[in-house]
Amino acid sequence: MEQIKKLLDSKQIRPTVQRMKILKCLSEKKGHLTVDTIYEIIRKEIPTMSKTTVYNTLSSMAEVGIVVPIVITGKEARYELNTVQHHHFFCERCAKVIDIEVQCDHFCKGEINGHKINELHGYFKGVCKNCLTPEKGRKL
Ligand SMILES: [Zn+2]
Ligand SMILES: [Zn+2]
Repeated sequence: MEQIKKLLDSKQIRPTVQRMKILKCLSEKKGHLTVDTIYEIIRKEIPTMSKTTVYNTLSSMAEVGIVVPIVITGKEARYELNTVQHHHFFCERCAKVIDIEVQCDHFCKGEINGHKINELHGYFKGVCKNCLTPEKGRKL
């Protein structure tokens, strides 16, 4: 919780209960949560919190770069804390999002063909290794 408070302080954002709870939730679940999931978790602790509040809080924290929205399916955004830049792997079967480390020369240099890079987003789509494990003798 201290770390989360420091993070908000560093961006000069008031550590409200809502913000703290949402960030705590993202940090404990290691990110990749949809607004719905976060809302479900937080509602248990703060029944008065609306889904709109969760959504608005996430949007404003994304603007200042505390959280990062990940949009892969186009249907929904998932959020994670802004940490080291990485790619994602999206499983088309179980809809799981997995962190993938990236080594990107362009990103390290901070520019590409003379264009300045601020953020890096990339993802792979496929079937995760859990889903690849043959079940009940079914061959893939
Ligand atoms: Zn999977
Ligand atoms: Zn991630």
